Amino acid sequence: MQSFVYETLPSRVVFGQGTVTQVRAEAERLGVRRVLVLSTPGRGEALAHEIAALLGNLSAGVHAGAVMHTPVEVTEVALQVVRDAGVDAVVAVGGGSTIGLGKAIALRTDLPQIAVPTTYAGSEMTTILGETKEGVKITQRTPKVLPEVVIYDVDLTMALPASIAATSGMNAMAHAVEALYSKETNPVICLMAEEGLRAIARALPRIKDDPQDRAARWDALYGAWLCGACLGAVGMALHHKLCHVLGGSFNLPHAETHTIILPHAVAYNASAAPEAMDRVANALGVENAAQGLFALARRLGAKQALRDIGMPADGIEMAVKAAVAAPYWNPRPLEEEGLRDLLSRAWDGDPPRKWLNS
Ligand code: NAD
Repeated sequence: MQSFVYETLPSRVVFGQGTVTQVRAEAERLGVRRVLVLSTPGRGEALAHEIAALLGNLSAGVHAGAVMHTPVEVTEVALQVVRDAGVDAVVAVGGGSTIGLGKAIALRTDLPQIAVPTTYAGSEMTTILGETKEGVKITQRTPKVLPEVVIYDVDLTMALPASIAATSGMNAMAHAVEALYSKETNPVICLMAEEGLRAIARALPRIKDDPQDRAARWDALYGAWLCGACLGAVGMALHHKLCHVLGGSFNLPHAETHTIILPHAVAYNASAAPEAMDRVANALGVENAAQGLFALARRLGAKQALRDIGMPADGIEMAVKAAVAAPYWNPRPLEEEGLRDLLSRAWDGDPPRKWLNS
């Protein structure tokens, strides 16, 4: 029996198939009149124009300028568009990169946001914003950046390539896994975490085998919502900190980095969080949480070695030092030797270590 605090975040979630057609009704509900649609350039831009058309006379156009890691210069350009067009709300359609831009605008203007996620990263459910300035990524938590409305539309995820669905899904699972052993964990979040893990774990292999499996896409998006809510509700630990260090230091791709590190971070923490491990294993239908996550990533054909996604070998030592430099809470104390072993295995693509008691 453990005391806990549970805090809900004020966001409205519209979930289903074809739900993006409700975007105008949602904008009207917010009482806004000049809505700018945000996306990344290229493929995402076409979808942004479709949403602008759905908004009709409430549309203030499309700004397809979002890029990964929300650089401050990119936000400045978007803010100029917001000012010039007299915008009073934004719709961010795309993955975490586009949703990051919407949040960065909201931070500076207090404009309401409608998020329309097309990956499983989960940013739309959090008060977290990571921005890069002169190559340094700074993360903050503030309620100002939480989108007022999130429209999850399974149809918009059908074209997400199975390989991106795999790593993005593993990224989502990482939120739920760390929520289960978070310092702030609570019974409600544990329910959401387990359900989110179960939904994504059963969906991803089906998406790999048949990318047009709509029921699997539904499960994955549903699971991603729950996992994103876990990230929004409680603090994270070693896994997220390590990915942050690696992404920031070596500019590694976000979802792939999470996919590679997760089994190893779980193995590292296993002996200190046995109940969380049981819940993860149970949700995945496996004996051992870390080995099960590694096997899932392998089954999905995801890259499993940091060296294959651009990390230099001499980066291991730097990452170990960076990971212990700013102390943070983790179920198992941070030990340089253990972290060196973890990162060496992840760099080589080896299976996670079976620690004593894990
Ligand atoms: P992303 O937004 O860059 O998208 C990944 C790739 O998928 C891109 O190439 C994009 O064009 C493509 N894509 C997206 N939707 C698609 C679709 N439906 N069909 C085809 N292709 C599609 O990456 P991401 O992994 O979604 O997000 C990563 C970013 O989000 C990072 O900057 C990370 O820091 C941030 N993030 C923030 C939070 C938070 O709470 N603040 C949480 C998770 C991630």
